[in-house]
Amino acid sequence: MFEENLFNMRKIQLLITMVFESKHPKIQIPQEGIYQYMTSNPEKIPDNKVIYIDGITGKTITYGEFKHESKKFAAGLQDKLEFKRGKVTTANPKYRATELSYQLTDSGASVLIVHPEFLETAIEASIEAKIPSSRVLLFGDEEIKGYKPYRSVLIGDREIEPVSYTPEEARTTTAYLPYSSGTTGKQKGVELTHTNINVNLAQLIGSNCGLGPHSIFMGLLPFFHIYALTCILHGTLIHGATTIILPCFNVETFCEAIQKYRINQIHAVPPIILKLVNDPVVQNFDISSVNLILSAAAPLSDELEKKFNEMYKVPILQAYGLTETSPILHYPDTKNINNSVPGSIGYLLPNVKAKILSESGDELGYNEPGEMWVHGPNVMKGYLNNKEATNAVFDKDGFFNTGDIACVDEQGNFFIVDRKKELIKYKGFQVAPAELEAVLLTHDAVSDTAVIGYYSEEEATELPIAYVTVKHGYEQSQALAKEIQSFVGGKVAPHKKLRGGILFINKIPKSDSGKILRRLLREKLKNEKMN
Ligand code: AMP
Repeated sequence: MFEENLFNMRKIQLLITMVFESKHPKIQIPQEGIYQYMTSNPEKIPDNKVIYIDGITGKTITYGEFKHESKKFAAGLQDKLEFKRGKVTTANPKYRATELSYQLTDSGASVLIVHPEFLETAIEASIEAKIPSSRVLLFGDEEIKGYKPYRSVLIGDREIEPVSYTPEEARTTTAYLPYSSGTTGKQKGVELTHTNINVNLAQLIGSNCGLGPHSIFMGLLPFFHIYALTCILHGTLIHGATTIILPCFNVETFCEAIQKYRINQIHAVPPIILKLVNDPVVQNFDISSVNLILSAAAPLSDELEKKFNEMYKVPILQAYGLTETSPILHYPDTKNINNSVPGSIGYLLPNVKAKILSESGDELGYNEPGEMWVHGPNVMKGYLNNKEATNAVFDKDGFFNTGDIACVDEQGNFFIVDRKKELIKYKGFQVAPAELEAVLLTHDAVSDTAVIGYYSEEEATELPIAYVTVKHGYEQSQALAKEIQSFVGGKVAPHKKLRGGILFINKIPKSDSGKILRRLLREKLKNEKMN
């Protein structure tokens, strides 16, 4: 009898703790297209409000100019390039030609707009992807090697009213197609719909994020990545904020921009936090305007968080998400900064549910780490033209597998404890082991290989490292390791370089089905680093 009661109690406990709901009230899901939602700010932003400022040249764009330019751009796409409704894919400008052409081909891109600095790569990639040179256009005002600025080709006087979407169309039409490797394999096009993007901003507003017309954002993170695309580029519009755009991170320019424009809200990644902690140059600037600093996109170590909080009066907060979730899933209570729990990524956004699963697939309760699955209106439609990969990350109830190991306390604070999926994050950028392994296998000396990541406290980032077995006749030497490292470095974008180095091994550990047992390699590496 007693045992039966105990069993029933456990069952009830399991039922209660199976799915974690957001502690925020539910929000209404926006029903329109991105343009309509982005221009629906309830605060009624005046048309003369400056919304974007180039932090280097001081050039500005007002809200009114933004709306006119968008409508002219849309007219140009229709008139000159016969565009209908379509999606936009954004790529890392530092990609090598083969990486870019892969994305151009996979996404079916028919026009490429590129910064002049990366024109050479764009030319090579567009040839491979069979995009005619007349459809390779440049940012800026200058024609280079016969390649024309997009403004001279597309922007005339005609403006069109942006296409409107029914609620059903907004929910199902892909707007953006950023690339992500997901839990395994190569980069895949992530189909994010109009509703996905809109709702993620609405969810942030519904989580009391404290952002609004008073917000002056630091616009440093790359707009090709979903974190800045949604939270900064679109966030500026929906919150009626202003963003100071910087092209890349340099600690002096960063602090100067804060001082000059009185930037108050910064979205950052851990290596930026490291600089703010370690570089004495910061002390030469007045950065007291900052009242919110958020780190996301990669793990922030407890040590770095502690150091930052000891040095600055505003504690660092963490948010969390993925390309596949448009991106934010968890956000801290930014209105009560001092109640934030160190190490936490905050609470689930409104309308998001999560479950945490053990290795054997059981739903876990509070404070029990396991793989986190999420459900919400910001979760992607799927991977482009890849049913198999899509099916692999959704369960029968529509929960999406984040591939991260997380736990949650009784107050609803979530923590990321580890990562189960293959992905490596170098300074917030994705590095897919499978992609590097494919490159490594093209080297004459390499017979087998496995790439894993390890965390470097000195750089506040993970670094990719390759285990390599060599072909018969090759000697496992330092010289060969260096040779392989620079061979790979010459073929991939800078963030994918094997900065962790090459380690030789006699056999790559694999399961019976041939899957690389990365966990064993990670443990081996950890032991070796400790000794
Ligand atoms: P991406 O799709 O490039 O945004 O990468 C998403 C992945 O970045 C997540 O699945 C996590 O592994 C990692 N990530 C994002 N935010 C955090 C965070 N605050 N702490 C730890 N890892 C994070």
